[in-house]
Amino acid sequence: MTPAQLLEGILHGSAAVQRRAMAKAITLLESTRADHRAQADELLTAMLPHTGKSFRLGISGVPGVGKSTFIETLGLHLVAQGMKVAVLTIDPSSTVSGGSILGDKTRMEHLSVNPNAYIRPSPSSGTLGGVAEKTREAMLVCEAAAYDVVIIETVGVGQSEIAVHGMTDMFCVLQLPNAGDDLQAIKKGVMELADLVVINKADIDPNAATRAQAQITSSLRLLAMHGNPDHAHHNEALWQPKVVQISALKGDGVEGFWHAVQEFRRLQTANGKLQTRREKQALSWMWERIDFGLKQAFRHHPQVRELLPRMQADVSEGRIAASTAARTLLQLAAQQGE
Ligand code: GDP
Repeated sequence: MTPAQLLEGILHGSAAVQRRAMAKAITLLESTRADHRAQADELLTAMLPHTGKSFRLGISGVPGVGKSTFIETLGLHLVAQGMKVAVLTIDPSSTVSGGSILGDKTRMEHLSVNPNAYIRPSPSSGTLGGVAEKTREAMLVCEAAAYDVVIIETVGVGQSEIAVHGMTDMFCVLQLPNAGDDLQAIKKGVMELADLVVINKADIDPNAATRAQAQITSSLRLLAMHGNPDHAHHNEALWQPKVVQISALKGDGVEGFWHAVQEFRRLQTANGKLQTRREKQALSWMWERIDFGLKQAFRHHPQVRELLPRMQADVSEGRIAASTAARTLLQLAAQQGE
């Protein structure tokens, strides 16, 4: 199929045609072949005017916290209201081992067979930056296909959370109700990213969940005072990070969660923050990809490749200054381009 045919299927196809076109488009976008990449860019450019209307929701948390249970419950709640929901995943383990933390079990059993839900697992290889790029592009496909909500899920391991935060409108962190976990997340710097903290499994020990909610709320307030000056002075027009309790298994609190999401969307649209967040994300994405592309071109430059092992040895053994080595190699790489 040509990019134009794919786009036609994504925009106007019947349910089955659209689904097939989405899968084909995402496969094309994931391909690393140079000729595919040219077609992929053509598709992206044609698709772009049809994107941007979905709400982009990031969800992270450690394995076992209940992410897939929660996304299943939330997804079914949203499709029952007439929405179309897409779920994409960034699995950082696949970039390291080729294995998968998230993909090995049957996940979201009911949501995955719902005609108004589209679930796509994590691309199974590549660097985290590469996987994140493909997920971002897959998100655009879902948007062009008029999905109302695109959920991007990841496991809590630092870098992948930053990647998901960098492509979503709202970033939610799932937590277990036991005390102390919040401190770990704060240490890792994840709490600073959270627009909403969700304490799951509140059914197991409601008192612990309420204690955790109070603790995390006060931690967030402290973080806000030290970090974001916007949050230091309570401002009605700005979203203040919140903490909610749910039981993904029983469905309790899911409606409250969705209310908080809508409130976030309403406020941040009215004050312009949502728009500026997307603008910043698009630009930092461009620069991230430029950095990556330059580094790759540099590493593949024939003379650089030849000289690199010796230079690395010279630098690590102290025969040449790191900055001198870098300058020499960069000059070498620049010469051929002229
Ligand atoms: P994930 O690894 O974060 O995707 O976690 P899962 O959704 O697979 O959940 C891990 C385990 O926790 C499963 O056995 C779920 O049934 C269970 N679980 C998830 N949410 C809840 C909840 O709200 N309450 C209770 N009691 N168990 C839950």
